[in-house]
Amino acid sequence: MPLDIGVGILLSLGVAELFHVPATIGFILLGIGCALLPDVDIITMLFGSWKHRTHTHYPITYIPVSIIIFALFGPIYGLLFTLAVYAHLIHDTIGIGWGIAWLWPFSSRKFLFFPDDARRKTLGTFATWTPEEEPAIKAEGSNSNWVRDFYFRPNFLAYIEYGTLLIALAALFLYKQ
Ligand SMILES: [Zn+2]
Repeated sequence: MPLDIGVGILLSLGVAELFHVPATIGFILLGIGCALLPDVDIITMLFGSWKHRTHTHYPITYIPVSIIIFALFGPIYGLLFTLAVYAHLIHDTIGIGWGIAWLWPFSSRKFLFFPDDARRKTLGTFATWTPEEEPAIKAEGSNSNWVRDFYFRPNFLAYIEYGTLLIALAALFLYKQ
């Protein structure tokens, strides 16, 4: 989450720079929103209708959406949207969480690089599994305190997450000077 916000800010600044347009507060908030967009399924999940990391985390979902945004709103918004949502999916393929089904609908197999320390012992550096294998993998390596352990305790992934956010905030501060 902190990393997605940081990446959203950096992409907004980068795209604005690329097209020589001002990075307004609205444009930066839009970048953050796009970088967090795939996790909208957390809200729908609360209402029991969708599972986390299905439709909104299938990379193919954003190909038509990106094309529509490019067509309707032009390259500035099209590029920001595309980079931000795919950055989120790449982020979700690394570290904590349960990977991304990059090849859906051709394969429901999920992929995860560099699982957190606790799971790397069983999963290895690069893990991939089918939906049928998922319950067994989750039962073995699940950490019910992951929010506390990864976001509120010092650890490598937290340094990357908060570090990226700090860099983004610093870039924002310098940009506004
Ligand atoms: Zn996500």
